[in-house]
Amino acid sequence: MIGVVVMVDARSRLASPTNEGVVIGVAPGEHVVHGGEEWGHGRADGPFIHDAGPFGNGSSSAGFAETADPVAGQGSERHDDGPSDNRHQRFGSNGVPWSPTMIDPDRWPADYFDARARFAELARSCGARLDARAVEAVGPRGERLSVDVASLGPVRPDRMIVLVGGVHGAEGFLGTAVQLQALRRLAHDGLPDGTGIAMIHAANPWGFAHGRRVDENNVDVNRNFIGACPPEPASPPGYVELDPLLNPCRAPGVRDEFRYWLGAGRSIVRDRGVAKLARAIAEGQYRFPQGLFYGGAAAGESCRTLQDLVLGLSASADRVIVLDVHSGLGRSAVAMLIGDGNVGAPEDRLDRLRGHYRRSVYLDRSADNLYDARGTFARWCRRSLDDKRCLYLCVEIGTVNPLTLLSALRRENQAHHWTPVGSAPRARTGRALLDVFAPRSRRWRRRSVAQGLDVLDRTLALPADLA
Ligand SMILES: [Zn+2]
Repeated sequence: MIGVVVMVDARSRLASPTNEGVVIGVAPGEHVVHGGEEWGHGRADGPFIHDAGPFGNGSSSAGFAETADPVAGQGSERHDDGPSDNRHQRFGSNGVPWSPTMIDPDRWPADYFDARARFAELARSCGARLDARAVEAVGPRGERLSVDVASLGPVRPDRMIVLVGGVHGAEGFLGTAVQLQALRRLAHDGLPDGTGIAMIHAANPWGFAHGRRVDENNVDVNRNFIGACPPEPASPPGYVELDPLLNPCRAPGVRDEFRYWLGAGRSIVRDRGVAKLARAIAEGQYRFPQGLFYGGAAAGESCRTLQDLVLGLSASADRVIVLDVHSGLGRSAVAMLIGDGNVGAPEDRLDRLRGHYRRSVYLDRSADNLYDARGTFARWCRRSLDDKRCLYLCVEIGTVNPLTLLSALRRENQAHHWTPVGSAPRARTGRALLDVFAPRSRRWRRRSVAQGLDVLDRTLALPADLA
C-alpha cells in the first residue's frame, strides 16, 4: 500500500472568508470519525503527521443504515453553561417532547422526502407557520420537490434569525436534524421578545433528494450568488493546472485514485503547504461546468429561491442573523463559524464573537483569512441586507479530513459525469459521499446536532451590538 504522508503544522488552519473554510489536517487533540469508527487522532502538541492513505475513505459499508456504536446512549452534550435565558414568547408545545439529551441518532432522516415530511409534521405540532416553495427540479423518480419554511415568533419581528439547511444538498441531513431539534427546543423554551425565527429546509432540494452536494446543473449553490453573470477571472490561479487531477474525463478507477493522492501530495510539497491548493480549489470556479466547485453561469433556482425567502422573511426586521448549517470541514463533530457582518470594526467583532460563541470564528474581512471565496451566500447577505444590522454565520460542522473529503467529492463527481445512471460506480461513490457529509456514526450525529443547538442558543442571547 502506498501512502502519501502529509505534514501540516497544527496551527495552519485555513478559513475561508465566507463558507467552506478549508481546514487542512487534524487539530490538536481532535478525533476524526468515519463511519462509526475513529480512524485518526490529532496530537496534543506541535506539528503532526497525518497518513492520508492512498484510497480515501474506502466506503466499504453498504447503504445509509445505522452502524453499531459502543458509546450510543451514553452521556450527552453539554448544555450546562449556555447563555442565560430571556425567553418570553411561548408557542404551546402541544406535547412535543424536549430534553437536551434527546437527540436520537436512530431517527436520522432517511432521505429528502423523509426529512421534509418530518420537518413539516414537527413544525405543525410546534405551532409554526409553514410555507412551501415548489421548485422545477424533480426527484430521482420525478417527484415534486420544494424548499419549506417553518416560522415561529412575530410575523414582523425586530430581530429575525434565519436557520438554513441543505444549501449543499447532501449536507441537508445534518441541517434537518438540527432544525428538528431546534423546533423541539423552541416549542419548549420559547423565544426572546421581538425575535422571530424562520427555518429554511432543503435550500437545494434537488441536491438533497439526489444525494449530491451540488444542484441539478452541477452548480455549487454557495458559489452561485452571482446575479446574471459569473465573476472574473473564471477560475482562481492554480485551478487550471489542478483540473485534470480534480476532474478526470473518464469513469473512476483505482489508478485515478492513486494519481489523486500522489498529485495532492506533490502539490502540497511543491507549494510548501496546503494554502495554495486550498485557495485554488475552494475559491470557486466558473470555467469548468463539470468540475468541482463550479459556480454556474447565472444564479440558479436554489439560489434565487433562497434570496427571495431571506429578503421576504427579514423585510420588517432591523436585525438579521443568518445561520447556515453545513457539514464536512473542520474538526469532527465540532462547529466552527465562518461569516461576516456589518456591525462594528471587523477585528473587534471577531474577538467578541469568539468570546460569545466560545468556539472558532472566522470573518471574511479579518486578517487571518487566507482566501476569499466568490459568489457565496455570505457575500450576498452582506450586499443585500446592508440596510440592516446583519450577521451571516456559516455553521460548519466537521466530519473527516479535507483530503478525504475532496477525494469523495471528486470520485462522486467523476462517476456522475462519466458513468451511466444506475451504474455501480455511481451508487458506490454516492454512498461514499454521504459517508463524508452525513456520517453514520451515532456519536457524530448526536454531538453534531448538539453543536448546532449550542450555536442557536448563543445566537438567541447575542448582544444587540453584535447583530
Ligand atoms: Zn457546505
